[in-house]
Amino acid sequence: MNILVINCGSSSLKYQLLNMQDESQLAQGLVERIGLEGSRLKQETPDFGKKVIETDMKDHKAALENVLKALTNEEFGAIKSLDEINAVGHRVVHAGEKYSESVIINDDVIKALEECIELAPLHNPPNLIGIRAIQELLPSVQNVGVFDTAFHQTMPETSYIYPLPYELYEKYGIRRYGFHGTSHRYVAQRTAEILGKDVKDLKIISCHLGNGASVCAIKGGKSVATSMGFTPLEGLVMGTRSGDIDPAIVTYIMEKENLSTDEVNNLLNKKSGVYGISGVSSDFRDIEDAAADGNKRAQLALDSFDLRVKKYIAAYAAILGGVDALVFTAGLGENSAMNRESICQNLEFMGVEIDAEENKVRGKEKIVSKPSSKVKVMVVPTNEELMIARDTLALLK
Ligand code: AMP
Repeated sequence: MNILVINCGSSSLKYQLLNMQDESQLAQGLVERIGLEGSRLKQETPDFGKKVIETDMKDHKAALENVLKALTNEEFGAIKSLDEINAVGHRVVHAGEKYSESVIINDDVIKALEECIELAPLHNPPNLIGIRAIQELLPSVQNVGVFDTAFHQTMPETSYIYPLPYELYEKYGIRRYGFHGTSHRYVAQRTAEILGKDVKDLKIISCHLGNGASVCAIKGGKSVATSMGFTPLEGLVMGTRSGDIDPAIVTYIMEKENLSTDEVNNLLNKKSGVYGISGVSSDFRDIEDAAADGNKRAQLALDSFDLRVKKYIAAYAAILGGVDALVFTAGLGENSAMNRESICQNLEFMGVEIDAEENKVRGKEKIVSKPSSKVKVMVVPTNEELMIARDTLALLK
């Protein structure tokens, strides 16, 4: 059984084709600049390596047509015919309070996701366009929706309610939803497998530290608290997002700088975070280099990032009533030993003892704490695509 996994962004599309017999990857690819000049498709397969196709793709349907052509290309494709795609799993960002698990997509599901557009105006529309395009291009295959928000639907009301007038929750659904759920769920399962334990018996803090970043407290395999909120803007300091700030700052800078709601949204989402503090870049590699060269603001950005992650870890340890595993994942979490070490400093009081030597690892599963550490500190590379494919397979069975 081969499953195609699709993740449609506003002008890009990522895909993977997986053979679920052994969960091996048959192809992975990325389409960039959809609807813009210079659009191109990059595909990589184990047999033929990397291939780049430059062609105009005016919309997501055109992009998906090219993906299907590339997958079945005689010279460098992964499969001979489209019949070898048995199902498609779609990453969908927001399912509101409607779905706490992945579902087979039908008209009712599409309607529910359309109703969530207000909650995720940038993400849900391209996700829906991808679903509709596949329905047209591969009319006989089943589509499955896997939602970023679903894993966090187990959070107790105390975790998700904001201290605002309750009517705003009732009227507009203003509450914490949380994101990166597929990644946190994968990390929790994999952590349990690595430790040889049942996930039901574990208290895990999962730190998804990439360009977007969030921490999740997971008890018995269920999300009980997470740092992203009503939108992905809340919580940690991120590449370009501010994370937590005093909400009064928003109206203050709107008045002082004469900003519209769009402009202030843009400032908080695109010009803040480590980029805003450092003025160097949103990429942690550039910031680490600048800090090493003595750039004080770059160092301040890194220190502020680490401090906030540390704060969430300690807070979630309290919510969980103890921690068995503290896990790092995503671009920065998987690759930056310096960052992991700095976050773990001062957490010794709660049983976190990172081992500087073991911690010298990039992008590989590893326990990086000392044998004496009460809390296992781990690196677990995330694999959201595999999780989406597994959910798709499970639902079709
Ligand atoms: P993601 O959003 O998970 O793709 O993560 C992307 C981020 O990970 C980039 O912005 C980088 O800052 C960070 N990253 C990736 N590799 C490294 C590395 N070797 N050292 C430090 N940061 C890294």
